[in-house]
Amino acid sequence: MIVGTASESGPRPRIGAATVDRVILHVDMDSFFASVEVRDDPALAGRPVIVGGSGRRGVVAACTYEARMFGVHSAMPSSVARRLCPDAVFLDGRFHRYVEESRRLHAILAAYTPLVEGISLDEAFLDVSGAVHLFGSGTSMGHEIRRRVREEMDLHCSVGVGRTKLMAKLASKAAKPKASRSGIEPGPGVVEVRAEEEFAFLHPLPVRALWGIGPVTEKRLLALGVTTVGELAAMTPESLERYLGTAAGRHLSELSRAIDDRPVVPEQEAKSIGHEETFSSDLWDPEDLQARLQRMVDASATALRRAERAARTVTVKLRFGDFTQITRSHTLDGPVDATPAIGAVAAALLESVDLSRGVRLLGVSLSGLGDPGAGTQLRLDLDPPAGDEEMPDAASRAAGQDGPDTVTAVRDASREAERLQQSWGSVTGAVDAIRERYGGTAVGPASLVTPEGIKVRERGEAQWGPSRPRATSGGADRPVREPDAPGG
Ligand SMILES: [Mg+2]
Repeated sequence: MIVGTASESGPRPRIGAATVDRVILHVDMDSFFASVEVRDDPALAGRPVIVGGSGRRGVVAACTYEARMFGVHSAMPSSVARRLCPDAVFLDGRFHRYVEESRRLHAILAAYTPLVEGISLDEAFLDVSGAVHLFGSGTSMGHEIRRRVREEMDLHCSVGVGRTKLMAKLASKAAKPKASRSGIEPGPGVVEVRAEEEFAFLHPLPVRALWGIGPVTEKRLLALGVTTVGELAAMTPESLERYLGTAAGRHLSELSRAIDDRPVVPEQEAKSIGHEETFSSDLWDPEDLQARLQRMVDASATALRRAERAARTVTVKLRFGDFTQITRSHTLDGPVDATPAIGAVAAALLESVDLSRGVRLLGVSLSGLGDPGAGTQLRLDLDPPAGDEEMPDAASRAAGQDGPDTVTAVRDASREAERLQQSWGSVTGAVDAIRERYGGTAVGPASLVTPEGIKVRERGEAQWGPSRPRATSGGADRPVREPDAPGG
């Protein structure tokens, strides 16, 4: 499942001296997915375990420290990991288990402050500035959280403590165990960077340790002879802005001087819900692609209803064999949550695309989320709505390439979607109830029926790229959060 969240872009309030008083924790589980697998299956203890896509284009999602001793790390192509560590146990992963464990983690964290910002399933910022009089210093809260995670979840985490998100994040990294050829060295578990220690801690680090410095920016900085954060801090903000652009230059200049006013934003609500699959070989057959798309629509619509939301915008995303990528989207007059209604729009969008380049990735996402009750679902007039001349947005985007037929097709689908939403609205609730009780494959739309039975992908299973090809399964779903806190 793809859960896009509100990002923190845009100008941030300058708080100035007020930030001195903030106490921020960054809690990060140690090799989370892999540790859950090892805990649930003691036979794996002490072995190199890699969770990720085992297929040709799979990547490592997580690995145990025993695997890291061989140089394996997350985001590495699985083929490379397999070469480095041929004896590793490869697991597809069980996303639903990680979601459950993440909820348990959040239940522990919520005991300390309501200001918890989840960054990913296994990582969160806490603003505990207002909690120190109740629970003691940030460091003692860090130790307490580690103890509870160990005792209640039988898992390990590391905690960073600082005055800013930047410091807390870098500190939790310093708190982690280290694995090298010579063995696994336990980390301190909790590291605090005090205000007066910030420069001494920050400035020797390589520039890539900073948020927002990816390989491209790093290369540019290296070309200028800048390798450490300290050297970055020595540059004037103006020259950095000149080299890297105004926004990036200013931001990095501030970070390098330990200025980071970004607040901890609790409860980021999902902005979109969706699924996407990367295929182990490019697909060409429109019928096959439509069937796969409808399965993703079904899974996404179910997640949408479970979240008690309805969507107005349906987006279909494709990446082709040559790596070019397009999206086609359409915004409806009113919110929909019925699978057939969403499916009708998605199908028309896919039909508008020329598939002759071969499809490497296919995805659908639902956005413009709101209350299912709001909007126009009570409209009984099934005739075209007034203002029908208006071009649907997907259609207008597609029109340049695909001509007026596409416009008509998407508009027809839009009308069909409204009709289906009305006729299916109450039925989908019953379908969800049956699935809840008897499992995902108990009932499904006719388009999902295949010779092997009804195919409903379990939410988030094998989402890190394709598993090794199997008789019945194609690809994988990948959870994506908009990158908010890279760099760790
Ligand atoms: Mg982690």
